[in-house]
Amino acid sequence: MVVEHARKSCAHPRTKVHGVRAEDFRHMKSFTKEEIEGTRAYFSNSGFPEVPVKLGSRTFAYFVLPQSLEPKLAPFVFRCTGKPEDGYVLGIADTVKEEHRPYAIAHEFIEFTEIGINRPNRCSAALLEELSLVPDSIKKDYIGARTTFFENLIRYCEQKPEQYTPCDLQEFSASLLALRKAIKG
Ligand SMILES: [Zn+2]
Repeated sequence: MVVEHARKSCAHPRTKVHGVRAEDFRHMKSFTKEEIEGTRAYFSNSGFPEVPVKLGSRTFAYFVLPQSLEPKLAPFVFRCTGKPEDGYVLGIADTVKEEHRPYAIAHEFIEFTEIGINRPNRCSAALLEELSLVPDSIKKDYIGARTTFFENLIRYCEQKPEQYTPCDLQEFSASLLALRKAIKG
């Protein structure tokens, strides 16, 4: 769900080092190899820890990012992906419970590296797979947290029609609906 302007790099406008712009938290664009590598270098150079995960047959890694990188969306999940061969950078705000992080990141990993950015219903499809990975012991708490996350995300995106298309919102709304169904069991 790429909507907005294409950018030459992920460089943060307020810093000289490679980084991320606030817009990178908002819209579903496909990134170039240079942008992905620049983002990775920025996160590494900033000292943000990268955590490896093994969930069933999947292995991936994510950065734990300060919530202050995007205070307007609390909590946030960060994704910088493009062509599969160009690698990826995933991240999550430090305000997300540690035990929830691998599953919320699995969602992004599944949606953007397995399903693909151009497939309709990719978000809710990723959500169902994500929920199947969550242990029963934390499921109720997790579904509650993800419901709040999607509610906030939709509210945040609705305020930025220039950055999100109705299709983007439809993807998020389908996931929110699936979460509400899951709550009811
Ligand atoms: Zn999604």
